[in-house]
Amino acid sequence: MRILIAEDEKKIAEFIRRGLKEEGYAADAVHNGPDALRLAEENPYDLLLLDVMLPGLDGVEVCRRLRGGGFSAPIMMLTARDRVEDKVKGLDSGANDYLTKPFAFEELLARVRALLRPRPAGEAAVLKAGRLELDLPAHKARLDGKPLELSAKEFSLLEYLVRNKGRAVTRTMIAEHVWDINFDSGTNVIDVYINYLRRKLEKGGAGGMIATVRGKGYRLSE
Ligand code: CA
Repeated sequence: MRILIAEDEKKIAEFIRRGLKEEGYAADAVHNGPDALRLAEENPYDLLLLDVMLPGLDGVEVCRRLRGGGFSAPIMMLTARDRVEDKVKGLDSGANDYLTKPFAFEELLARVRALLRPRPAGEAAVLKAGRLELDLPAHKARLDGKPLELSAKEFSLLEYLVRNKGRAVTRTMIAEHVWDINFDSGTNVIDVYINYLRRKLEKGGAGGMIATVRGKGYRLSE
């Protein structure tokens, strides 16, 4: 899951970016409105955290233009102001949620998780693929009901593969959704992480779940 943070207070932006990375998200930060607009239009983000008071173009305007241009990922507004009319303006411009600064990082994280997993009523919070189960709220993986110890990045990669189970995903698709904008496509990091996952699955006799698709990338099958 890839997240864009638009926040002109660089310390706050960096604090959020680091915190999200530690949780296994790919996160990029920009510090003004025009950059936020450009990056969000050019890259496949899964979520935008958008400060309202931004130089160049304010968050409400960025949100309005993105929605006008068909940007469909969830947007969460961040602001120091907590006046009702600001919240209404933000939500009216197309934001999905609103968080008032200062906030506890745990709360930001809980809202990010909720926004990234808009589940229709009745859909489970657990993703399944054959013998594999991913408990999304708890960030835990199980194979045949037994815990599978994964790093945050391994979990994100596996989640992406499970969400696309049965389909071949390219390294580019994986890089775009699991790694951040500084990802160097010349490295073999993705293959390295795929091997980590295979080895862990192999211990449970399920190493064959992730197949290499020649000339394309990888496919997870049940
Ligand atoms: Ca600001």
